[in-house]
Amino acid sequence: MRVAVLSDIHSNLVALDAVIAAFDSIDAVWHLGDVVGYGPEPDGVVERLAGLEAVGVRGNHDAAACGGREIEYFNPDARAAMEWTRDAMSSTTRAWLEAQPERRTEGDFTLVHGSPRDPIWEYITTVPIARANLTSLDTPYGLHGHTHVPVAFRDDDGRVEVISPARGSELPMDGRTVLLNPGSVGQPRDGDPMASWLVIDTEAARCSWHRVGYDIPAVQAAMTAAGLPSRLVGRLGHGI
Ligand code: ZN
Repeated sequence: MRVAVLSDIHSNLVALDAVIAAFDSIDAVWHLGDVVGYGPEPDGVVERLAGLEAVGVRGNHDAAACGGREIEYFNPDARAAMEWTRDAMSSTTRAWLEAQPERRTEGDFTLVHGSPRDPIWEYITTVPIARANLTSLDTPYGLHGHTHVPVAFRDDDGRVEVISPARGSELPMDGRTVLLNPGSVGQPRDGDPMASWLVIDTEAARCSWHRVGYDIPAVQAAMTAAGLPSRLVGRLGHGI
């Protein structure tokens, strides 16, 4: 089975559609939350994921969109965009978001947004945080997003190996415990503005990271027309 793993789409339907157009023999789609927030098309993104029968988990932005107190921890731009999202999204979108669990297990994979031990909020950014989360995993492989940076943290006999994948990089899935971050579809922050995602090939026992460009000016124009914060508009062009 070949699974596309998408995270942090953030209401960016143009980026999501570019990723879907680049799919190569994909059998299933998993998402790692932050489906909405920041971008201009929350309903379109949820409709697309529902159409693909994607399964996944809830992110901090999704929880906030459903009325959660997570919004109180947002910076002013994220908060303004979330207030816009709450007003703009349909009841169908809200119901779909509310149905997403905080954690999901699919075979050998644990799916979370933040981290296995704190699924909504923790950012896995350092080796000590990765080590604690590798230890708390009860499946061989963990999938997480939230940082918007593609990366893998692999347990190598107690040592944590940090792997920063380039476009097209592959990693064997050989039973060693590993945390995999696909990067962000809708708001990359690793300095590359192209949409990022992960493909897992369970039969070949390997995964690979992918990038695709999309019409960033079109999304920026839609955000400006919607009155979304200009800093959020600008950052899409820089991938930060
Ligand atoms: Zn996010």
